[in-house]
Amino acid sequence: MAGPGWGPPRLDGFILTERLGSGTYATVYKAYAKKDTREVVAIKCVAKKSLNKASVENLLTEIEILKGIRHRHIVQLKDFQWDSDNIYLIMEFCAGGDLSRFIHTRRILPEKVARVFMQQLASALQFLHERNVSHLDLKPQNILLSSLEKPHLKLADFGFAQHMSPWDEKHVLRGSPLYMAPEMVCQRQYDARVDLWSVGVILYEALFGQPPFASRSFSELEEKIRSNRVIELPLRPALSQECRDLLQRLLERDPSRRISFQDFFAHPWVDLEHMPSGESLARATTLVVQAVKKDQEGDAAAALSLYCKALDFFVPALHYEVDTHRKEAIKAKVGQYVSRAEELKAIVSSSNRALLRQGTSARDLLREMARDKPRLLAALEVASAAMAKEDEAGGEQDALALYQHGLGELLLLLAGEAPSPYSPQPLAALPSPRALPLSAAEPPGRRRELLHTEVQNLMARAEYLKEQVKMRESHWEAETLDKEGLSESVRSSCTLQ
Ligand code: ADP
Ligand code: MG
Repeated sequence: MAGPGWGPPRLDGFILTERLGSGTYATVYKAYAKKDTREVVAIKCVAKKSLNKASVENLLTEIEILKGIRHRHIVQLKDFQWDSDNIYLIMEFCAGGDLSRFIHTRRILPEKVARVFMQQLASALQFLHERNVSHLDLKPQNILLSSLEKPHLKLADFGFAQHMSPWDEKHVLRGSPLYMAPEMVCQRQYDARVDLWSVGVILYEALFGQPPFASRSFSELEEKIRSNRVIELPLRPALSQECRDLLQRLLERDPSRRISFQDFFAHPWVDLEHMPSGESLARATTLVVQAVKKDQEGDAAAALSLYCKALDFFVPALHYEVDTHRKEAIKAKVGQYVSRAEELKAIVSSSNRALLRQGTSARDLLREMARDKPRLLAALEVASAAMAKEDEAGGEQDALALYQHGLGELLLLLAGEAPSPYSPQPLAALPSPRALPLSAAEPPGRRRELLHTEVQNLMARAEYLKEQVKMRESHWEAETLDKEGLSESVRSSCTLQ
């Protein structure tokens, strides 16, 4: 029974038990350390003969480097051993299964959940990228979950693919081409950028339930990989514009036009800066100190803006904090800042309104001068509709959408050319300029000056409004967190009894 290939192999110091899974190159077993700690680990057995020409020694050196890597979202390599046939990697055990199973038992993931996972994956990739390590075999099966209660991504199976060609001796592709960048399959020449393509496929699968090249037959799959067609995103489920933008830019067939690593890490949908981390609280605190200072100096607008920026870090800080007492203390403070920000908002709004009234005569003049240009007139109408909406209770979201729409048009009329297809904040939701006919730039003169000033006013309003909306969301999120916290403590008190 226990001949080669049957049952788990033997390994010094460990008792190997059930098979956890097997992938392209290896079989992974659950195991216990024989030492008194009885620590649970996962042991990956890689057959030496599956390695290509690169020497096994090279690989062992590499593993030594990987052993030094420690990151919250990377499966930790604790140790390794080898014998004549195999290399054994002793890894941290992940009890939550892999991302593939997680997605498919839920069919699709809501955008919010996908985003948290994507942030975790991005932070792992950023860490590796800074150390010049590529993964080259990113797919949901290689992304594990720490546990199912509080799922937490752990990137697995990296640093290895560099030693194994995706083609075996018979030129047959190993692994799944569903996740491989087209240049990897077609040109056989590729670099680290293939990882970004795979991230796009994983995100696509998480949101739409299957990868973009899902096919019924191999010939259909091959056709899809080799085609030049732009990857089309399904219309449903409804997703944010930022999320669609990221997908489209990751799933760019030409690696030189694909989003860069830096732009990926900084993309507003990923927003690594605001990911819950050990630094969130310190950053929030720095900003709140500045806010209080501005507030004392009587600069209400600057103070408000700083409070809002601080809240953007307090919410992730609360998500990160595990100690209930500390969590409560932060929450109480956040409550105070939110109240002060609400007061400041009232002060700032009333002075804004006064400013807005001051601008009325210039605005009327501009409108008068726009009579012979219906497109300009229409855009100015949209802007006034936005201002009117702003005064309505609960009209902030609508006002913001109108501002963004109106500003998109006005900027186009002012510049006369298509702005870059993706403008970062505050104009992230502008309609795609490609959909609009090109227009000539507004010629120099009084009308251009007035238009320029008006655009700046409107941009400031939109920016301010956006901060307000965000502040409300942060506040709301901090409150829901409260309820979660409550249910958590109820649950733990139940298990104690
Ligand atoms: P391969 O190089 O052969 O693809 P992987 O490292 O991806 O090997 O592991 C194969 C499978 O084994 C994974 O998809 C996962 O289901 C399981 N597995 C791997 N590592 C662990 C781990 N640390 N904890 C739990 N399960 C694991
Ligand atoms: Mg694998």
